[in-house]
Amino acid sequence: MRSYIAEARKRLGPKKQRIGPIIERLTAEYPEATIALRFRNELELLVSVMLSAQTTDVNVNRVTENLFEKYRRPDDYLAVPAEELERVIYRTGFFRQKAKSIQGTMRMLIEEFDGEVPRTVEELTRLPGVARKTANVVAAELGNPQGIVVDTHVRRLSQRLGLTKQEDPVKIERDLVKLVPRADWARFPHLLIWHGRRICDARRPRCEDCPLAVDLCPSSRLPIAAA
Ligand code: SF4
Repeated sequence: MRSYIAEARKRLGPKKQRIGPIIERLTAEYPEATIALRFRNELELLVSVMLSAQTTDVNVNRVTENLFEKYRRPDDYLAVPAEELERVIYRTGFFRQKAKSIQGTMRMLIEEFDGEVPRTVEELTRLPGVARKTANVVAAELGNPQGIVVDTHVRRLSQRLGLTKQEDPVKIERDLVKLVPRADWARFPHLLIWHGRRICDARRPRCEDCPLAVDLCPSSRLPIAAA
């Protein structure tokens, strides 16, 4: 299988030449590809992304629909006991840790950032409970991407498309930032996530319906004659 993929890679050409057309075709396919979390401002964005760890975006949206009605400013999150916040976010899982992180973050926003959400990954990762992945997502949505978000779909598709041989998300990100034009850093993960959910499924990729199958993907399951 590995040698087949190596063969296919040779046939399709280097990833540097393929990355442009891959982005173009996926953009044409999913012009509306954006983050699936629902938020109305920067604070809601930050809280949504913090809540999305270890759960689905759909689940987070269900919870934040109520949460954001009551909690509108950093002060609002600090005006209630942790247990009350825990009850509202309970369904996102890890609710104790998340409530603690959110309240700690709100405190720091007030004390060190004038109540505003900072825009750089460096500043965002200073907030309690905000890991690099969360910071990357928030910075990208704020129009200031400083890396490429690597989730399970981005990891799988980057490997299948022959854009990386790495397994570790940090190393995959390192490969991708060298390859993907900076202007596309924010959009690129959304394109792969949308494609991964709709066509390039983890277990059963639907290569026959994939716009990348014929000339851009070395892992295509279509017979070579069709490619
Ligand atoms: S050709 Fe198949 S393996 Fe490659 S990206 Fe498309 S669906 Fe995934």
